[in-house]
Amino acid sequence: MARKPLIAANWKMYKTPTESTAFLTTFFPLIKQNSQVEIVLCPSMTSLPALTDAARHTSVYIGAQNMHWHENGAYTGETSPTMLTDLGATHVLIGHSERRQYFNETDTTVNLKLKSALAHKLIPIVCVGEHLNEREANLTASVLELQVSVALEGIDPATAAPIVFAYEPVWAIGTGRTATPEIAEEAHQLIRAQIAKSLTPALAASTRILYGGSVKPDNAASLCCLEDIDGALVGGASLDPTSFAQIIANATAK
Ligand code: PEP
Repeated sequence: MARKPLIAANWKMYKTPTESTAFLTTFFPLIKQNSQVEIVLCPSMTSLPALTDAARHTSVYIGAQNMHWHENGAYTGETSPTMLTDLGATHVLIGHSERRQYFNETDTTVNLKLKSALAHKLIPIVCVGEHLNEREANLTASVLELQVSVALEGIDPATAAPIVFAYEPVWAIGTGRTATPEIAEEAHQLIRAQIAKSLTPALAASTRILYGGSVKPDNAASLCCLEDIDGALVGGASLDPTSFAQIIANATAK
């Protein structure tokens, strides 16, 4: 089954609602020829209402960077899946390494959020990836297998088709250091193999796996054209509309 490429922007804690809307005004004309790539912008929570409004009836999808797994409750500061869908958000990042590192997110909370996203018809983009010391200790395969298997624990294969994974080696995020195409391809194959074990071989073949970690216009083509890489999750280089549109154009050279 063909996997439609997906390129997602993670704006982290950048851009006010005014700045987010201004981005779209410049960005739309730059991507008007695009039909091959699913484009997703994940702004901060405060920009979600403005962006879901502005992107309605366009080919650009809007996602959140995080969510709680409960629909409501006494969880001060949190955002629920129903709050996101009510705004028109369609995607959600789950388990980004910055959330794991600074906000105590674990494989177990990733699993709870993944189940909740599926139940609420949000497309989950589940981030996994090893730290540099784990790569240097030859632990990449076991780290990825554990992250993917716990994320998928108890997921009914019949509901799992929307799941997207993002391989984001932590040492490549925001560092300017990109995984070589060989390193990325090998990691994507490991993730696909674990999806086959945890779910089914058919789902492993159809699940999109994105690469993330210092993707820029000049390396997008070499990373995104590989067999097991189905797009990109882009942080820093997605903040500028011209640079993000160029990444989309270069990645489509697949
Ligand atoms: C990210 O935030 O997911 C990311 C990949 O960031 P950057 O592209 O800046 O490395």
